[in-house]
Amino acid sequence: MIADCGLKNGDRLSTSEICNPKSKMLAMVEVTLLRGRERRPLAGHPWIYQGEIERIEGDPEPGERARVKDFRGRFIGMGYINPRSQITVRLLTWEEEAIDEAFLQRRIRKALEYRKRIVADTDACRLISSEGDFLPGLIVDRYGDLLVLQILTAGMERLKEVVVQLLVQLLSPKGIYERNDSPSRLLEGLEHQKGPLYGDFDRVVQIQEGGVKFWVDVAEGQKTGFFLDQRENRFALRGYAEGKEVLDGFCYSGGFALNALYAGAASAVGIDLSPAALDLAKRSAEANGLADRCTFKEANAFDELRALERTGRHFDLIILDPPAFTRGKEAVAGAIRGYKEINLRAMKLLREGGILLTCSCSYHLDAETFLGVLQSAALDAKKRLRLLELRTQARDHLVLLGVKETYYLKCAILEVMRA
Ligand code: SAH
Repeated sequence: MIADCGLKNGDRLSTSEICNPKSKMLAMVEVTLLRGRERRPLAGHPWIYQGEIERIEGDPEPGERARVKDFRGRFIGMGYINPRSQITVRLLTWEEEAIDEAFLQRRIRKALEYRKRIVADTDACRLISSEGDFLPGLIVDRYGDLLVLQILTAGMERLKEVVVQLLVQLLSPKGIYERNDSPSRLLEGLEHQKGPLYGDFDRVVQIQEGGVKFWVDVAEGQKTGFFLDQRENRFALRGYAEGKEVLDGFCYSGGFALNALYAGAASAVGIDLSPAALDLAKRSAEANGLADRCTFKEANAFDELRALERTGRHFDLIILDPPAFTRGKEAVAGAIRGYKEINLRAMKLLREGGILLTCSCSYHLDAETFLGVLQSAALDAKKRLRLLELRTQARDHLVLLGVKETYYLKCAILEVMRA
């Protein structure tokens, strides 16, 4: 089975080596933390930064397994180490247990069981959500009978072969595609890798989400092909859409716009900078028989929102789901200006009592700050806002309370009224 998957052994360890207690994989590196630095990992946060480590015994290679102790030598947890990365250790477990194939199988099974319980009415979802599923560095998305794998760390890279084998065993997918082109791999000293790992399949597949069909390009699409994290927010939008004139400001492949139309919206305009995304949106509109009620336009949303205002056009429902305006702490001020600008414009374009569904996926901008930005935009636009729903990422993108980085998506649904 695994022989089909096109993995090259190279200098990576084989399954038997990982499972063999005598192998290098199990020759564990001992890591001792500085005094006081045990608090966060003990509270369940899996990351240990370079500056929190007092001593590393040995000279570990990126991705080797590590056993972490506090300054008194008391056991904290086990994971893997990458001396080249600022996040030097990531913990996989807080128990003294072997990190072998059986361990990975247990973790993956748990992740799959959880999705079975909470994901309904779609054939696309995130099956494994990295830290959220206690598998840091590993993302697995399902698109119909295709899986897309993303590995973000050197430690997980070493486990890739076993992970692929387990996914094949547990899910019998038609294929597995590797989307290892995330910029964060470079911080781990890993190269970008992209291509099929297992099976034979088309790179552009059709999925369905609550009755709406979408074309997804797993090779060239953004993220792993689709914004799975917005699924529950797209469903929530349906309740506000009937009979409405809709504007979807950063529409990608039409996710929100097509859901609105499916729920009875009168019309929808989608705007995006990416012609490839718009092409998928148009094809998906056709596939759902919704093409006659929507237009998709290649434009910069910042310019287009202003241009629409100049023409005096109005809408009943506006969606703003921009990309993260900041990936770092230092750029938050600029991001705030960006969010304020687009939200202010959207508020002006809405008819009295119109609905604004507005998102921020910038982790560094917390929910409270985001709501503050919306309020400040409302003041400038001379509007009052009623917060109808404050939502977050779909539940297959797990949030761990002890790991604030797992909570990134904010989605506010607001009623916009004259001040
Ligand atoms: N709501 C979508 C996902 C949107 S992702 C869904 O549910 O699938 C953000 C999108 O914004 C991307 O498609 C990106 O191409 C687009 N984008 C980025 N900057 C933009 C800009 N200045 N104007 C318009 N679109 C932009």
